[in-house]
Amino acid sequence: MLPYRILSWLTEVYPFAALAFYIGLAMFTFAVCFLIPALAIVILMFSIFFLVPAVAFFRVLKMIEAWLARNQISRHRCPCCGEELQGAEEVDCLVCGIAWDPQGTKVTA
Ligand SMILES: [Zn+2]
Repeated sequence: MLPYRILSWLTEVYPFAALAFYIGLAMFTFAVCFLIPALAIVILMFSIFFLVPAVAFFRVLKMIEAWLARNQISRHRCPCCGEELQGAEEVDCLVCGIAWDPQGTKVTA
C-alpha cells in the first residue's frame, strides 16, 4: 500500500524531474561552452548516453509499480488505499476512484 503510493508518486514525478535535469544541464552547458568547449562536448555526449539508463530505470520503476498493484489486486485490496475491491475484469476502487487493468497499470477514467 505505502510502497505502491511512493512508487506511484515517483513514476509521476520522474519524467518531469528528468526534463528539469536536462534543462538545467543545457543551461549549464550553454554557460560553460564558451569558457571550456571540451567540457561542453563531454556533457553533450554524457547527456545522450545517459538517456538509455534513465529510460531503463523508469521502465523498471513502472514494472515494480504494476507488480505491486497486481499483488494487491489478487488479494482484492486497493493498491492505493487498501480498501476492499469491487468489479471483475477491470478493477476499480470505490473509495479513491482509481481503476486498474489486469496488467496492474492505472486506468484513468
Ligand atoms: Zn482505493
